[in-house]
Amino acid sequence: MDPTTATAQPKEALPCARVAVLAPVRGLFSYRLPGELEASIGVGQLVEVPFGRSRRRGVIVEICDGRAEPEGLELKPICGLVQGEWIDPALLRTLLWSADYYLAPPGEMVFAALPPAFRKLGRLAGASQRQAVLPVEPGDASGLTRLQDRAPLQARVLRAVQEAGEVLLADLEQRMPGARAAVRALEAKGLVRREARELLRDPPRADLPAPKAIEHLGAAQQRALDAVCQALDAQQFGVQLLHGVTGSGKTEVYLRAIAHALRAQRGAILLVPEISLTPQLLSRVRDRFGRQVAVLHSALGSGERLDEWRRLKTGRARVAVGARSAVFAPVQAPGLIVVDEEHDSSYKQSERLPYHGRDLAIIRGREESAVVLLGSATPSLESFHHARSGRYRLLEMDQRIDGRAMPEIELVDLRQLVDPLERSQTLSPRLAEALAEALDRNEQAILFLNRRGYSSFALCRDCGQTLRCDNCSVALVHHLASDQLCCHYCGLSRKLPERCPTCARGRMQLFGLGTEKCEQEVRRRFPGARVLRLDSDSVSGRGKLDALISRFARGKADVLVGTQMVTKGHDIPGVTLVGVLLADLGLHLPDFRAAERSFQLLTQVAGRAGRGERPGRVIVQTFLPEHESIVLAREGRFVDFFERELARRQALGYPPAGRLLLVRTSCEDAQRSAELARQVAASMRRHGPDTVRVLGPVASPLSRIRGRYRWQLLVKCERVGDLQRVAQAALRQVRVPAGAKILFDVDPVDML
Ligand code: ADP
Ligand code: ZN
Repeated sequence: MDPTTATAQPKEALPCARVAVLAPVRGLFSYRLPGELEASIGVGQLVEVPFGRSRRRGVIVEICDGRAEPEGLELKPICGLVQGEWIDPALLRTLLWSADYYLAPPGEMVFAALPPAFRKLGRLAGASQRQAVLPVEPGDASGLTRLQDRAPLQARVLRAVQEAGEVLLADLEQRMPGARAAVRALEAKGLVRREARELLRDPPRADLPAPKAIEHLGAAQQRALDAVCQALDAQQFGVQLLHGVTGSGKTEVYLRAIAHALRAQRGAILLVPEISLTPQLLSRVRDRFGRQVAVLHSALGSGERLDEWRRLKTGRARVAVGARSAVFAPVQAPGLIVVDEEHDSSYKQSERLPYHGRDLAIIRGREESAVVLLGSATPSLESFHHARSGRYRLLEMDQRIDGRAMPEIELVDLRQLVDPLERSQTLSPRLAEALAEALDRNEQAILFLNRRGYSSFALCRDCGQTLRCDNCSVALVHHLASDQLCCHYCGLSRKLPERCPTCARGRMQLFGLGTEKCEQEVRRRFPGARVLRLDSDSVSGRGKLDALISRFARGKADVLVGTQMVTKGHDIPGVTLVGVLLADLGLHLPDFRAAERSFQLLTQVAGRAGRGERPGRVIVQTFLPEHESIVLAREGRFVDFFERELARRQALGYPPAGRLLLVRTSCEDAQRSAELARQVAASMRRHGPDTVRVLGPVASPLSRIRGRYRWQLLVKCERVGDLQRVAQAALRQVRVPAGAKILFDVDPVDML
């Protein structure tokens, strides 16, 4: 026996639990398990615990005997259970892994997996939890006569309830104000009773043309599906990357793979970049799987979200569809996790609680022994690299369905447009001509410009100053609809001044273009055309976007002008022309992924053309037609682009050749923000191993947002574990002053 343990006073075993508490703190907390709870408690159980001077929600992560706790420490007891609510083990492991990896407070990470209703103490109420009122003695009219004179409202309520046999309390209240109190009084008299009723609601649907039924898969689709089904049958974790050109029919492969998982009594998760942008995909999933589908949509009310979540948790729905946070959907025994358009940057949450939905899909898949299917026409460098090195299985579909041609892409060199009149226009003569031809043939067109608003900046003709936001380091953008200058970061808006506020002399002139200006120009030059605009200004309300896309899909409009919202996934056979108004936007951003993003965006938007029987054509306007992203996208040479870009990343140690951590500080006080960033950098340099390189700190490219000054530093290394180690050391050593914030972003996507 070990002599040290023999002499030490053995510590008494005391049942206790390690809890991830919903609070912005890293680490777990220990609580005593009261005897009466001991039997009914387990890992994953939601609890309420004392925390500081308040109570918080938390999740039990581990049950232990308390011997590891420091001597003499008095543990507080758990104060209560959230009855019947727990997180399934594989999901909990995914969340704890994520908290570790992304350096996030574990409680916050765990609660990110739950509907917001779970965060608050107190009773949970879903939208479907309605109260029905029923008569206690259905045929008994005696109570009614007794009430008639003394309490007329109660009498009316009782009559309504007796006549209908059962009425929803909410409906009663609406018909007869004050009915709620009357019901309570009737209940006390023993005349009515209440029961909870589940309301089955059909979520709103976009009114889209019915997709044609697909009878036979193409050969490439069948090969891809067979590979996925084989992996599903093996019931083992594995990742497959489906690289299929635009229009190769990836959706059908996803749907049949999901059906296969369901047949094997397993569930499925389908992740999409932005759920509101995919009404077509959503309606195809619902057509196929009906009530088995739960949609996790941020536009749902909190009660509705809880309902959808419950349907999954109880196994009544087995397929979850949603944006990045749906990776945490409580699907029972998921066998398949599909990530559509896996390259899309909206899978990355960058602001609060950074995590990558696609990467967590892989971790969740591993924990659930599920198959993960990543799909894209333009896979991310990271994923394609893994496929090449054999970590993922690569499935290729390099032809469009039915042998349809890939659209022809033509470049218009804007430098060649010498005529200043031509240059000031949004549409080059080439694009205008192509648009006129398409309209003549009753075909549809999409025009893409990655900037909303009317002009991109307002400049003084005299002193040359531009109007900038008071809170953010960006120019204000003019919007025609509101006739206001707006900040796209903080929402500040103001009137366009008559005279320049800087020199008080010059007149302001609007320069550059946005989607509004483009829409206006198309209307002006093609008065007969029916034009729609799709950007976050035009579709701010719920349901508006569905309506707009379905109008275009039904052929009720000829031209769709919009931001990157028009590039994503839409499958509209009538579209034969795609115009890219200025491909250069985005090429010059100070971000190592700028070239990759441009390549993806061009390929994706071009892929909207010619998806029906008639061939498509694409016209790309640019000042840099020789840029590699543009040239290779035009020629559809994904693999060549991948190899060249990979070589560049390898030379610089950027992902996928190395790992990155971005640390960003922000504070209303510029000095304090800079100083905090300097301290973090110094601490990391002191304590990091030699393989870790700390670059910066520097002011962020967007150096001020909403009045907060931003500084950042970039940490590069080969092995990801080192990032977490240096970050944890810095977190221990550096004190964050009041008003300042520090954000650790592992595998950052937003570098600005
Ligand atoms: P992707 O997502 O690869 O760009 P989609 O899944 O949207 O492509 O499919 C493109 C179009 O081809 C859709 O209109 C779809 O209905 C159709 N399609 C897919 N598979 C088949 C098939 N096997 N036979 C006929 N049409 C198909
Ligand atoms: Zn602003």
